Amino acid sequence: MEYPALYLKRGEDARLRAGHLWVFSNEVDVERSPLTAFAPGDACAIVDHRGKAIGIGYVNPNSLIAARLVARGLDHPLDSSLIVHRLNVALSLRERLYAQPYYRLVFGEADGLPGLTVDRFGDVLVAQATTAGMDRRKEEIRDALVKVLKPRQLWWKNDAGIRALEHLPEVVELGHGEPGGEVFAREGRLEFLIDPVGGQKTGWFYDQRENRDQLARLAAGKRVLDMFSYLGGWGIRAAAEGASDVVCVDASAAAVESIAANAERNGVGARVRATRADAFDHLRALREARERFDVVILDPPAFIKRKKDAAEGRLAYRRLNELGMQVLARDGLLVTCSCSHHLPRAALLDGVQQGARHLDRQVQMLIALQQAPDHPVHPAIAETEYLKGFICRVLPA
Ligand code: SAH
Repeated sequence: MEYPALYLKRGEDARLRAGHLWVFSNEVDVERSPLTAFAPGDACAIVDHRGKAIGIGYVNPNSLIAARLVARGLDHPLDSSLIVHRLNVALSLRERLYAQPYYRLVFGEADGLPGLTVDRFGDVLVAQATTAGMDRRKEEIRDALVKVLKPRQLWWKNDAGIRALEHLPEVVELGHGEPGGEVFAREGRLEFLIDPVGGQKTGWFYDQRENRDQLARLAAGKRVLDMFSYLGGWGIRAAAEGASDVVCVDASAAAVESIAANAERNGVGARVRATRADAFDHLRALREARERFDVVILDPPAFIKRKKDAAEGRLAYRRLNELGMQVLARDGLLVTCSCSHHLPRAALLDGVQQGARHLDRQVQMLIALQQAPDHPVHPAIAETEYLKGFICRVLPA
């Protein structure tokens, strides 16, 4: 194999051998292989201190994660045929899981393509490259996606803040096809108009699909409050299952504006209302107005983006859940979620419990929620497991 070697210090191969894919910059033997000799995204052979190759990956000398392993051994170069192979393996999982071509097709490290995310909306693909190694291979990735899926459009939604860690600019661009035409996300019988360019992340949050399924069967006849609703995924699905009245709340004007149209499109326009507001302010206002809901959904953005924000973030989750319980009717359901990797599952439930005690309520945790299986967890890479949640019954003490 022709790739230049990136030598690890003694003992620093253990994590990779245990299944992880990342090499941190302090684990590189820079005397033998100076990081400065590599350009961002260069392919390399990752080699242990004895000179035995672990596999092939790519380097970013500017990042704390100096290299990511893409293939074990030296048999498979980091080229388009490897990407096509990985895509086919990823596709075969999603086709087993879902009847329709609407899902997360590639979930980075967990699908053997570190730094790459691809969501599929029928014949439209929305991709994100979060590392220099993937960013530099956009053309090969496009060719592989076109070969495997023949999409009408491929968008690069490369505006994620974490790109800054790799010194990459934020750019949204069309990678394949012609612009224009409507793009939909589908869940079951429902259809949501999304915006792959101006929307949040890739335009839709497929990670909550199975969790919305769980709520759907409990929603009939209920009055539902969908906080941090974005396009109304939870609320509109609940309405479609017979919720009597749904209120969606989000801080984004663009998101709130499209909720009515999406509700209408799914035949539940009369039972869904949308309000633009800050969630905390709005919950306080609802509490003051003595409004009560049978179901309150709390699906906020990550309050803990970095580990150092953990303590403050935990408090924010607790405050939010307490506010949510204050607008819950007697014997109501609280659906609470966190997509912060740095908030452990148990800490979220703790926050709910503390809030409940403070309000003199009793909580029964009924259903544990997690990210949908098109966002598989890599057991060796804790960061791939991020979404947790609970459906809880809240009773007077
Ligand atoms: N529940 C959504 C996903 C939520 S993503 C779904 O299932 O698709 C988080 C949402 O919170 C975003 O739409 C963002 O606009 C909104 N948001 C962020 N901060 C907020 C705040 N302080 N108050 C209300 N909404 C907020």
